[in-house]
Amino acid sequence: SGLEEVSELDAASRTSGASFKGGSLDVRQLSMAYGELDVLKGVDLSVKPGSVTCIIGPSGSGKSTLLRGLNRLVEPKSGDILIDGESILAMKPERLRRRVGMVFQHFNLFPDHTALENVMLSLTKIKGLPNAEAERIAKARLADVGLASRQHHRPGGLSGGQQQRVAIARALAMEPEVILFDEVTSALDPELVKGVLNLMADLGSRGMTMVVVTHEMGFARRVADQVVFMDEGRVVEAGTPEAIFDNPQSQRLQRFLAEVL
Ligand code: ADP
Ligand code: MG
Repeated sequence: SGLEEVSELDAASRTSGASFKGGSLDVRQLSMAYGELDVLKGVDLSVKPGSVTCIIGPSGSGKSTLLRGLNRLVEPKSGDILIDGESILAMKPERLRRRVGMVFQHFNLFPDHTALENVMLSLTKIKGLPNAEAERIAKARLADVGLASRQHHRPGGLSGGQQQRVAIARALAMEPEVILFDEVTSALDPELVKGVLNLMADLGSRGMTMVVVTHEMGFARRVADQVVFMDEGRVVEAGTPEAIFDNPQSQRLQRFLAEVL
């Protein structure tokens, strides 16, 4: 129920919680394509450790493709991506996935496993931790997202907002240096959106480096250190929330804001 969401949210924001040690991210002249279709055309992006970058832009502008490149779910065509100065192109995919977490619009939880097991699985399978250790970490991360009391529920017994918080706990459990969020509230019922956004704001304030593709302009304005506007595979403008929302320079951004605000 709505009331439960609110009280759990309070619990989540009360966790003074561990602080995170986010890494930096540098994208240099990144180009990506699907076959013949050029989707990213020389994207540059610089993300400071512990900062929140919100990426906005029309549908089809290449936002999801950029995130997939950062995680090498799709291989870049040219250019480079550095995490804390180290090229991800030289990194083993398993190592990269530990350093860069990703949360999707559809939570991608295993339906036959409990919340606790869902968080534990990547710790045992990818990190190779023993069960007891994985369980200890998974419980702590579920507590961080306000779901300690729901750890033995399966996804089907949780609200969409709670499921998304399990997915965030799962990403956090890997101790990534950067977490990528791709429209993580777009599939949620409106009354559940705020809880997830507040949790994300909380992670940002605790030092996690986050790259957030979002339609939630209020969140971008309130939480982002940097807002990046993409269109047709390029970064058209990047700057502080004030610069982007109050003083847009390009016609394309002005038009986009007129449509969404
Ligand atoms: P956004 O997330 O900004 O909506 P995407 O990165 O999903 O944009 O898509 C950018 C472009 O790439 C679109 O033209 C889309 O149709 C195309 N595209 C996305 N995914 C694929 C794919 N798997 N295969 C072929 N084309 C794709
Ligand atoms: Mg997308």
